[in-house]
Amino acid sequence: MKDTTKFLRLGALAAVLVLAAAACGGSTASPSASAAASTPAHWTYEGEEGPTHWGELDATYTACADGSAQTPIDIVKPTGKDLPNPEFTYAAGAATIVNNGHTIQAVAADGNTLTVAGVVSTLLQMHFHAPSEHTIAGKQFAAEMHFVHKAADGALSVVGVMISEGTADNAAWAPFVDSLTTVKGTDGSATIDWAAMLPAEKLTYRYEGSLTTPPCTEGVHWFLMTTPVALSKAQIAKITAAYDGNFRPVQALNGREVDVDTSK
Ligand SMILES: [Zn+2]
Repeated sequence: MKDTTKFLRLGALAAVLVLAAAACGGSTASPSASAAASTPAHWTYEGEEGPTHWGELDATYTACADGSAQTPIDIVKPTGKDLPNPEFTYAAGAATIVNNGHTIQAVAADGNTLTVAGVVSTLLQMHFHAPSEHTIAGKQFAAEMHFVHKAADGALSVVGVMISEGTADNAAWAPFVDSLTTVKGTDGSATIDWAAMLPAEKLTYRYEGSLTTPPCTEGVHWFLMTTPVALSKAQIAKITAAYDGNFRPVQALNGREVDVDTSK
């Protein structure tokens, strides 16, 4: 009986891999070759390859469906705590602008770091989702920026910044916003003042979550700024002209603790 079950599961896995290969478009690889291939399945933000189907698209995406600590979440009644403050050592400098087909990233040069309780993580890239992925007491924002950092042990820490609509252009965000005409396959460049893009108030909501895109890997430390940054209506329009609707819906909290830093 067990052998039969295993056989059926393998059969189902092979079927999924065939579908995944087909979804990539034009792949002629056999299912077994597909399993070993470095290119995972294509995914989208809507339709048959959208968020509710990510877990079925590729054998490496199962956490998207089966995970218990997924991101984003709705932030409701977080527990106030005096937590170690994040220390940002960011410098202005040249960044490479990459349109990956899901968002547009500003890829940082070396040397920008986030330090929390003595653990140093290096800034890799910043990208956007519009509208926001996290919601705060049910409220969705115009956009959400993700500053992605990696520690020496490989652990990811993502700092999220909510974007609200203000009356004036935000000069600190202008170089990135103005680079969003970069098309897929043709990298751009911009001079980014990373530190100036963060809100002055550095209090954050914190919890343990995941990547918000396939493969939805868990173990990601989340720091979501409690204070949004204001961009003008015209600047937000430049963001949504690049991608509109590239957000994953909120996921179940599953008993996770969500804290908010109360220390100045
Ligand atoms: Zn993101």
